[in-house]
Amino acid sequence: MTAPGPRCPVCLARFRATEHCSRCGADLAPLMRLSFQSYRLRQESKQAVAEGDFQKARDLARAAQEFAFTEAGGRLDTLTCWLTSVFPSGDAPAVYERSQDTRRSLAVTVRGVLRKFGL
Ligand SMILES: [Zn+2]
Repeated sequence: MTAPGPRCPVCLARFRATEHCSRCGADLAPLMRLSFQSYRLRQESKQAVAEGDFQKARDLARAAQEFAFTEAGGRLDTLTCWLTSVFPSGDAPAVYERSQDTRRSLAVTVRGVLRKFGL
């Protein structure tokens, strides 16, 4: 099964990375900008996860979904929600700083979780 991906809001044709819909000619540039902004925020959120700043990651994941709702964004939102519940506000960076071994093993765990979530 393939991810549905973005579609033209007028005729529901798939995006073809052009500013106008290949089927109906609708101007897709505004949607492409929202989609890019959402992608950029998801990347920043994943970086914040890797750095142990889970609240920032959660805020960025939520913002990304507001720009453009995606399946991957939903998974990232779920993951960051879970991380902030496990490490209440402000705790995660302290855990990361506890020791280099802890930081290293947490980073490995977080990378594994990101992979598990398909992110
Ligand atoms: Zn169209």
